[in-house]
Amino acid sequence: TWSSVPAGPPDPILGVSEAFKADKDPRKINLGVGAYRDENGKPYVLSSVKKAEESIRASNPDKEYLPITGLPEFTKNAAKLAYGEDSAPVKAGTIAVTQSISGTGALRIGGAFLGRFYPHAKVIYLPVPSWGNHTPIFRDSGLEVRGYRYFDKKTVGLDFEGLKEDLRNAPEKAIVLLHACAHNPTGVDPTPAQWQEISDIVKERQLFPFFDMAYQGFASGSTDRDAFAVRHFVKEGHQIALSQSFAKNMGLYGERVGAFSLITADAEEKARVDSQLKIVIRPMYSNPPLHGAQIANTILSTPALYHEWESEVKGMAERIISMRERLYNELTHTHKTPGEWSHIKSQIGMFSFTGLSEAQSVGLAEKAHIYLTKDGRISMAGLNGSNIDYFAESVARAVKG
Ligand code: PMP
Repeated sequence: TWSSVPAGPPDPILGVSEAFKADKDPRKINLGVGAYRDENGKPYVLSSVKKAEESIRASNPDKEYLPITGLPEFTKNAAKLAYGEDSAPVKAGTIAVTQSISGTGALRIGGAFLGRFYPHAKVIYLPVPSWGNHTPIFRDSGLEVRGYRYFDKKTVGLDFEGLKEDLRNAPEKAIVLLHACAHNPTGVDPTPAQWQEISDIVKERQLFPFFDMAYQGFASGSTDRDAFAVRHFVKEGHQIALSQSFAKNMGLYGERVGAFSLITADAEEKARVDSQLKIVIRPMYSNPPLHGAQIANTILSTPALYHEWESEVKGMAERIISMRERLYNELTHTHKTPGEWSHIKSQIGMFSFTGLSEAQSVGLAEKAHIYLTKDGRISMAGLNGSNIDYFAESVARAVKG
């Protein structure tokens, strides 16, 4: 039956993890994976999450199905976290929101909804490069995927002129995907002033902005600061679409907690959109999982846990920022590595695009047992006090050749 099914290529990131697992050298480091690791290199369960789980268990909850669009208190609180309590559409009650299977599921629901109902050409522009799953998600949703310039290899920074030119040349009303903060894989974000210009172009060209916010709080340590772009666009009157994930900022990776929302014109339009979101979701997975949404909602709705969570997010972000400082200093001062390394410090969030070539990246695995993706991207969260010296020394050696 399946004799004509061709073998597909392995996932580029999971392949890195497999090679890492097979390596027996005690110095080995995995910088491919996009999950936070603590100072000891171990997965980290937040204390606010543990306390939320205890309080859920103590309430002796049942295991009934959630509604199609999920736990209503959770989606209300998730929208508040993203848009801000004072946001006009939050106050007006015009946000259509549904729980989702983490960020990936939110993007997929958004893609399916746009594929079915977006009344203009179904073309979506992604930054080049973007998270590797964006293209298949939107292609499988029936959208035509195109790219806009984003990353400048020469400066290892934002190609802002290229970005503006490509968005200005996009057909009117095209959909544009924007990483709200902590752009994956580059770690390069627009400044607030640049976001204001992007918002103006999106308005001029009547583009439809779809924000992917997978790292709220993880970039700067502040959930408000990281929501700047989303909130600025909303203030400017854009009716955005938004994907949220609680994988990184609450460390709920495997629990699959997220939300998808759309801003609508009024209550009547919201009711129509809500009804169709249910019709999109019901045949996909019927209704979302319960436990993770209960955890996230308990944190978002309990002031003491919320404060503890905020400081834990800040702690994770700050540990990463301190690793950036240290890596920059070791590369530049300790090892006098040829080249300019300040992008390590200026990049934001979990990842850094080091500028290492494919040959250097592959060579690090072969010669030093250090695993990263071929594009030279490293997860900063994989570095810690015990392995950063060895990492910097190995990079310096790879660059010196
Ligand atoms: N968007 C971006 C940009 C991401 O980096 C990720 C996680 N790697 C996601 C979405 C979705 O992740 P998840 O489905 O685990 O929330």
